[in-house]
Amino acid sequence: LRTPVTGIEPEELRRVLEAACKVAARDIKAGKVADYIPALARVPSSKLGAAIVTVDGDVILYGDAQEPFSIQSISKVFTLTMVLSAIGDSKRFWERVGREPSGSAFNSIVQLEMEHGIPRNPLINAGAIVVSDVLHGVLKSKDTVSAVVDFMRQISQSPRVSVDPVVAESEAVAGFRNASLANFLKSFRNLDHDVADVLHVYFNQCAIAMSCEELARASLYLAVEGDHPLTGSKVLSSSRTRRVNSIMLMCGHYDASGDFAFRVGLPGKSGVGGGIVAVAPGRAVIVVWSPGLNKHGNSHAGTIVLEHFARQTGWSVF
Ligand code: GLU
Repeated sequence: LRTPVTGIEPEELRRVLEAACKVAARDIKAGKVADYIPALARVPSSKLGAAIVTVDGDVILYGDAQEPFSIQSISKVFTLTMVLSAIGDSKRFWERVGREPSGSAFNSIVQLEMEHGIPRNPLINAGAIVVSDVLHGVLKSKDTVSAVVDFMRQISQSPRVSVDPVVAESEAVAGFRNASLANFLKSFRNLDHDVADVLHVYFNQCAIAMSCEELARASLYLAVEGDHPLTGSKVLSSSRTRRVNSIMLMCGHYDASGDFAFRVGLPGKSGVGGGIVAVAPGRAVIVVWSPGLNKHGNSHAGTIVLEHFARQTGWSVF
C-alpha cells in the first residue's frame, strides 16, 4: 500500500472535506452575492462546491465541484505566473508593481494616486491591470485573451475552459472603476498599451469560467514548486513559484488577507465570483466555491470550509 504524500488517506480527506462543507452550509445564507457586476448577481447563493487535487493525483469532489463559475480575481494568479514565466523576476517589473498587502479595497483609487501609480501588489485590480499590460506586450503577435485561455486549458487539462461572454460584457459595461484605475495608471505612465486594449484583456481574464475541479488541477503547480504533476510540465521555476505563493498569502484576500492567513494559514486567492484557491505546499490544492461573499468580498461559506478543513488536517504553512 502506498503512503500518500499528503500524509492523509484520500478517504479521510473526503470525510474531512464533507464535514467542513456541512458546517459551512449551515451559514451559507449569511453571504451576499456580488451585484456590482450584473451577470454575477444572477448566480444562486445556495451553490457550494469543493475540490481537492493532491500531488499524488487523487481527486476529491464535493457538491457543485464540477459546475463552472466566474473565476474573477483568481485569474490574477495565472496572468502573474505567465508574466513571471515569460520575463522572469525582472527588476523593471517589480518597479511597476509592488509586493505589499494593500490594506485597502481591491479597487481603491485613492491608494493608487497616493502611491503615484505604482499598485501595491499584482493581486489588487490596479496591479493586475499592470500585469495584463505587461502580458499584452510580451505576447505581441498573439491574441492575449486566447493565450490566457489556452494556458488555463493546458494546465487544467480541460479544453472546455473558456471566457463567459455574458460576464465579460457585463464587466465592461459596469467597469467604471477599473477604467478609472487604468486611466490613472496611464497618466502615471505605468501602462504601455491603450487603456481599452488592456481593459479588454483584464475583463476577459476575469470572465473565464471554470469549475472547482478544473481550477484545482490548474493550480497544482503552486503546490509542487512549479512542476505540474498532471501535465508533466514545468510551469514556473521553483523560486518564482515560492514568490507567487508568498504574494497569495500576503495579498490574496483583499484587505482581509491577514484574517485568512490567521484562520486558514495557507496561501490563497479569492474572487468575487465566490471561488477560493488554497495551496497546501507539497500536499494539495483545495478549491471551494460558494457565491455569497462576506463584507470583505471573500466567499463566506468558502472561508469557513477552508478554516475547518485546515484545522482538521493540520495543514498550514506555519
Ligand atoms: N472583475 C472584478 C473586478 O475587477 C474582479 C474582482 C475580484 O474578483 O476581486 O472588479
